[in-house]
Amino acid sequence: MAAILLRHDDAVHRPNCWRSLDRCTVASTQDLEIAVEAARRAQQAWWLSDDQDRARILRRIADEIRLHANALGTLDTLDSGRPIRDTATRDVERAARIFEFFAGTTDRLRGAVVPVQPSRTNLVEYEPIGIVGAITPWNYPLTNAIGKIAPALATGNAVILKPAEASPLSALLLAWIAHKAGLPAGLLNVLNGSGATIGEMIVRHPDIGKITFTGSTPTGRHIGSITGDLLKSVTLELGGKTGFILFADADLDRAADALVFSAFNNAGQTCTAGSRPLVEASIAKDFVDRIASRLNDIVIGDPLDLETRIGPVISARHRNMILAHLAGPSTTGLKRLELPSRSLPEAGFYVSPSIFLDVSPTAAIAQEEVFGPMITVTSFTSDDEAIEMANATRHGLATTVWTSSFQRARRVSREARSGLVWINTAHSLHPGSPYGGYKQSGVGVEMGQEAVQQHMKIKSVWMEDNVWQSPWG
Ligand code: NDP
Repeated sequence: MAAILLRHDDAVHRPNCWRSLDRCTVASTQDLEIAVEAARRAQQAWWLSDDQDRARILRRIADEIRLHANALGTLDTLDSGRPIRDTATRDVERAARIFEFFAGTTDRLRGAVVPVQPSRTNLVEYEPIGIVGAITPWNYPLTNAIGKIAPALATGNAVILKPAEASPLSALLLAWIAHKAGLPAGLLNVLNGSGATIGEMIVRHPDIGKITFTGSTPTGRHIGSITGDLLKSVTLELGGKTGFILFADADLDRAADALVFSAFNNAGQTCTAGSRPLVEASIAKDFVDRIASRLNDIVIGDPLDLETRIGPVISARHRNMILAHLAGPSTTGLKRLELPSRSLPEAGFYVSPSIFLDVSPTAAIAQEEVFGPMITVTSFTSDDEAIEMANATRHGLATTVWTSSFQRARRVSREARSGLVWINTAHSLHPGSPYGGYKQSGVGVEMGQEAVQQHMKIKSVWMEDNVWQSPWG
């Protein structure tokens, strides 16, 4: 079966618990060695197996994910506080589709025949890297994990996954689901524990050939420095600070819906959260009024309640970090819109939405990834200024633009220094479409055919068609 490594004697108290699931087990160095050995043994046979058999197993995993939607969704909600209306529906469906997309790539791992000298044949062949170490954060536990597992398995690799200490449960159920769907033993290994211990050991392990990581920019930079030193392949999906450009000619109601979803979905704990609306000055007040009225209608509360759209944030520590941003020196002197106060549940780490007005684009709060339910509104008076503001951050994950002018939209998309651009839409995703950042937002991409290539090595094979002649005569 797919290995699930737990050491019950090492159970630790988890810091995030907003409900009763507060203990989990951690993996040791020895567990990592067992997982690496299991992965090493399973990987070669997996790669040499029939591509259609591999695809069939990946599709079966997708089916099983849908069958276990409630369990997977409930675990993610209990772990992370992300509302069940999202975890058990959209997240699970996306997870299943990611497996289905990559199942469809197993027979497209094509190489090439390169036209070289007529007396020779040159084949370019793709091969799996071997063992992929995946390290995921707590904001979208299931989909973050599957975005790494599915392309790695489809390309003939084995996976060792370390989910965030704060949200490990859906990954464990996923390993069981994969086993039930017929994934051979050793191909998916889940190791629990902290980043500083088991995470770092995975990154440094000599038999793990690639690291794929999603999380904060500082941790990504640290991991990148280790993989650089060890000359390992790496994909880094890091922080963002999405500029949400709104021109006066846009459909303001739809744009307001998009902004509220983009910035406040998952209590703002999204790397592409549209937390930095850049609004044409003539409509700024009108737009802020529309956002405020929508926020007032949104249910914030128990994430297990189907009506809830914004739940608690991940942990007391994270709530304190957000509150320190919202009430700290980076917001001193800023104008804050008074939203009607509302009662929030006692249990759980809730943060009320905040809207800061007339914020300078260079203000710390408009530059740092707060990862909480807040926006900073900045106004502009020309297209040039809007584009300059959108790009004026060290991050480069996503840019959103709302306008009815095709030319304007295309200009923004061409000049945006970000890996994703959304035009008159928000957070559109598809497993076939690459996802990754520019600048400090990351290295490489996930999803799409591009992710397939990033999980493989390239081998150039030369054959002499005639009798070889030495160039030395
Ligand atoms: P981290 O980047 O520190 O954690 C992400 C993952 O990396 C977790 O599994 C973590 O383990 C692991 N990790 C941490 N340190 C190491 C290490 N040295 N070697 C290997 N793995 C490691 O994010 P945090 O959870 O600390 O969140 C802090 C901030 O990061 C947030 O406030 C937010 O701004 C940003 N963030 C961005 C995300 C994104 O999607 N871009 C996602 C999550 C956070 P563990 O947590 O178990 O210790």
